[in-house]
Amino acid sequence: MPATNIQTIEFDADLVRRYDRNGPRYTSYPTADRFVEAFGEDAYRSWAARRNIGGVQRPLALYVHLPFCRDICFYCACNKIVTRDGAKATRYLEYLGREIDLQAALFREDPRVSQMHWGGGTPTYYDVKDLTALFGRLAERFEFSPQGEYSVEIDPRTVDAQTIHALRGMGFNRVSFGVQDFDPRVQAAIHRLQSREQTHAAIDAARRAGFDSVNVDLMYGLPKQTLASFNETLVQVLAIRPDRIALYNYAHLPTLFKSQRRIEEGDLPSAETKLKLFGSAIKQLGMAGYAYIGMDHFALPEDALAVAQRQGRLYRNFQGYSIRAEADLVGLGVSAIGAVGPTYSQNHRALEDYYDALDRGEIPIMRGLELTADDLVRRAVIQALMCHFALSEESLEIAYLIDFNRYFATELEDLREFEKAGLISMSEGWLTVSPKGRLLIRSICMVFDRYLRHDRESRRYSRVI
Ligand code: SF4
Repeated sequence: MPATNIQTIEFDADLVRRYDRNGPRYTSYPTADRFVEAFGEDAYRSWAARRNIGGVQRPLALYVHLPFCRDICFYCACNKIVTRDGAKATRYLEYLGREIDLQAALFREDPRVSQMHWGGGTPTYYDVKDLTALFGRLAERFEFSPQGEYSVEIDPRTVDAQTIHALRGMGFNRVSFGVQDFDPRVQAAIHRLQSREQTHAAIDAARRAGFDSVNVDLMYGLPKQTLASFNETLVQVLAIRPDRIALYNYAHLPTLFKSQRRIEEGDLPSAETKLKLFGSAIKQLGMAGYAYIGMDHFALPEDALAVAQRQGRLYRNFQGYSIRAEADLVGLGVSAIGAVGPTYSQNHRALEDYYDALDRGEIPIMRGLELTADDLVRRAVIQALMCHFALSEESLEIAYLIDFNRYFATELEDLREFEKAGLISMSEGWLTVSPKGRLLIRSICMVFDRYLRHDRESRRYSRVI
């Protein structure tokens, strides 16, 4: 295997034009839009009680959702609450504490935690005192492994060096900074003014504080972005040399996300320009020595993610790629998603519903899903493709007692088109994604998504009748 993946992704504009389809990012399979309200608190409790039966000792991962932001970024598609009213945010912490207590009681017998992520919103909306108290409450009820992966999202506009040092002191060892674009015209168009100095100061502080890994989020396809302006942003980001870079595609969906209606459609780059932005960014990242991890993510070859990928032990979960073996995920906070045993669950998305459930003394689960045997097989396929761009038919047959070719006969038929186009190869019991296909991994995974297939077939059926 090469020392880096630089040579192993190939940007082919024609293929991207033809095969890049809107679809899930597969941080889970089935995706969250398939969760059902029939799965509630009782089902969650029952699976939590059974999670270690059979001698399988899975550690826990925690996701903590801190939804408050001071200002709105127009492009945002996150579940956030924009307010400058500190009292609202304080009230939330009080309820979150209650949820932590209820959840921790379920996992009292084996409270080992190997991963944690604080996301938002803006976790650093809170000051050091609040953040320390929250961490303290978690540390009292769970047992954090010293070798764990603990990450936090930081908005460079709302943080000072003291807070960054305090977060490191609590035990966070990975940090992610939202940047998106350094061009002031783009920043004005997305309502996110963030000077280079602010970003540099925050990243410097993280390095001085001793974080193991620093990630920077960038976004292409934003209003007012040009090839030249985004190249300049990349030059500046690459000069900082973050360990990881996430390069997201801005999807303009104003009917779904209200704040996106404040973006002038005339300011958006055309589809062709967007493709060039993407192609050029990939080239710059490759030339700078970044390895392609998969789905929007790049890392320096010595970063733990790139090392794990080379060693075939990369995982994907709701927080994206991870180096830790599968854990049971406990989602804490409004809208947070958990995954315990063969289930997914999601907390209430509206703050009032979340509070009401906790007032009744309930774990605030809104919906979820118990995975079927078929879901589990397909999840394993999608996980292998997303993390390793390769799938061993035999290992799947042994693990899930299926005849691969028979089980996936329809999918294999559909994949012929991808094979002809050179995106994948299928031989000697392996399905392998080619360098050209890697950037289109989502479209390849979508072939195995039974729910999408079902949607497509019902639409076709309803058109026919
Ligand atoms: S992008 Fe981040 S900081 Fe901006 S509104 Fe969304 S959650 Fe808040």
